[in-house]
Amino acid sequence: MMVDRIRPRRLPPRISTPDFWPATFDRFDEILASASHCQVEHIGTSAGGRAIHGVTYRGRSGAPMVGLVGGMHGHEPQGPATCFNVISVLGYGRDLKGTAWPGIVDDLSFAIVPVLNPDARARMPNSFVGLATQDILHYDAGMTHDGRRNDAVDDDVDPSEMMILGGWYNDTGDHVNRETDPDNISAPEVAATMQFMANHRPDVVLELHAHAGAPMLIRPDAGLPEEARKRQEALCDHILAAAAREEIPFRQDVPVSDRLSTCLYHHFADSVPLLYESPQGVLDSEAAWSHEEIIDACMFVVSEVCEFVMAER
Ligand SMILES: [Zn+2]
Repeated sequence: MMVDRIRPRRLPPRISTPDFWPATFDRFDEILASASHCQVEHIGTSAGGRAIHGVTYRGRSGAPMVGLVGGMHGHEPQGPATCFNVISVLGYGRDLKGTAWPGIVDDLSFAIVPVLNPDARARMPNSFVGLATQDILHYDAGMTHDGRRNDAVDDDVDPSEMMILGGWYNDTGDHVNRETDPDNISAPEVAATMQFMANHRPDVVLELHAHAGAPMLIRPDAGLPEEARKRQEALCDHILAAAAREEIPFRQDVPVSDRLSTCLYHHFADSVPLLYESPQGVLDSEAAWSHEEIIDACMFVVSEVCEFVMAER
């Protein structure tokens, strides 16, 4: 069906967010430009023509490496924000609000893709803190021209049919997190990120996501051999035990998924893949957290991943 008129894409609503929650490209560029302790590479270009950056930090010689990926989904701004807070810790010993994270040691090496899907980040609000679950539902799958939530939740979409092209998609409507065939990757964002990780081969790659529930880990496991699965389970046990000590109310079960491109880090880089679902901070959820609580829990997960890879060597 032809769309009878072209509707201009509007900028998303902007919610006022704290300085330690960088969510816009001017802030991203500012932080990357001043990160002289890191190497910043242009690793690819999104479907919409935006630069995708890979950031590496070299720790001591032969150190284990942690991989971090944020911003696969545009409506999950805490992922990029966390990556930039980690970059701050590596350079200055503190995150962007001044908190020290002794577990994120500069002995370690890092390979970071702060914003995998910049097209989606550009379309999405800065934050959902203090809003409702219903507000996110207009942005994850997106909204069609008749004002309904897109119901093709596992498929690619035609952007011309969307009033709001959802945060799951790049500008050509690729559902970037449903790319699970390593020989047939169509989204340039996923291809660039996998190549970057293949070049650096982190021990673990943590992918940062968010949802309307309690903090939760997900084990992506398509094609994962037994040895990697055991390390992945041990990593989850390590994080959940630490969360219990810190009284951070994580969901105790760890769902397993074979439908996520997150699985591909093992195929391309021999890395143990792990996915963290942060709370979005919406009011009608089990974790109606503030920006500070959200970032602190994300940084806690990164810190525990760092401790785990240090202990593994
Ligand atoms: Zn997500």
